[in-house]
Amino acid sequence: MRRFYFIFLILPVFGQQLTFNRVLQPIVEKRLRSYTQKNKDRMPALRQIFEDVGCKDESLSEQKVKGVKAPNLICTQKGATDSVILVGAHFDLIERGYGVVDNWTGASLLPSLFESLANAQRKHTFVFVAFTGEELGLLGSKSYVKKMGKELSSIKAMVNIDTLGLADTKVWTSYADKNLLQQLYKIADALHLPIVGVNVERVGSTDSESFREKKIPSIALHSVTSETLKILHSPQDTIEAVKLDEYYQSYRLIAAYLAFLDQALE
Ligand SMILES: [Zn+2]
Repeated sequence: MRRFYFIFLILPVFGQQLTFNRVLQPIVEKRLRSYTQKNKDRMPALRQIFEDVGCKDESLSEQKVKGVKAPNLICTQKGATDSVILVGAHFDLIERGYGVVDNWTGASLLPSLFESLANAQRKHTFVFVAFTGEELGLLGSKSYVKKMGKELSSIKAMVNIDTLGLADTKVWTSYADKNLLQQLYKIADALHLPIVGVNVERVGSTDSESFREKKIPSIALHSVTSETLKILHSPQDTIEAVKLDEYYQSYRLIAAYLAFLDQALE
C-alpha cells in the first residue's frame, strides 16, 4: 500500500525549494490508533512504528532514565553536518485517561515526520526523541539534556510536540525562540495553514522547557485552548477527542516546517 506522496514546493515569497514526503492521512491516523493504555506498552509500540518506517538498528537507540522504567527512544537521521534539529514528543501518559491526545498525537507522529524528511539528504542531523516520564516532571527530557553535556550546543533547534488535534495548531509564543517562531509563521502562511499563539505557562509545562532552560532555541506546538484544557489527564482523553482533520493539518504544517528549518537555520 502506498504510504506517502512526494511534495515539491517552491515558496513564492522566499524562492526556496522544499522537498519532503507527505504521509497519507489514513497512515497517520492508523499510527494514532495504535495507542495503548499502559505506560509500559508505549515505548515498544512506538519502537515498532519507527522500525516499520526504516529507523532501526544503529539509527534507533534507547536511553535509560533514572526514576522511570521506560527509556527515552531516540531515532537519528544523519545529515550533512553534525548540527542538530531535535524533534521531541513524550509518549508516557497519566493512566486516568487513554493519553491519546496527551500525547500519543505527538509521539506517534514522530515516525511520520521521520518518513517525511527521509526522501532527501538534509543539512542538519535530525534527532527524533520520544521522551519518557514527562508527566512525572519532565524526567526524560531533563535526563537527555544532562547526558548531552557540552554537546548540547550542537542543537540548533528543539521543536516539541505535545497534545495535538484538539483544534488547529497552536504555538506557545511567550516561551518560543523568536527566530523559530518567525519561521513557523512564514511556512504556515505560505501553505495557508492555521497557526495561532496560545500560551500555557499558567497551566503546565512540557519537554521543550528542559532545553529552553539551557538556552537552546526551542518552540512548543500544541492545540490546547481554555475550552479543551479539561480533557487532558482526564478519562475524556480518548481517540474521540481528536479532531482528525485538524490533526492531519498539524502534521502537514510540522513536516513542512522541519524541511523549511533545515534550510533556514545555520
Ligand atoms: Zn503532555
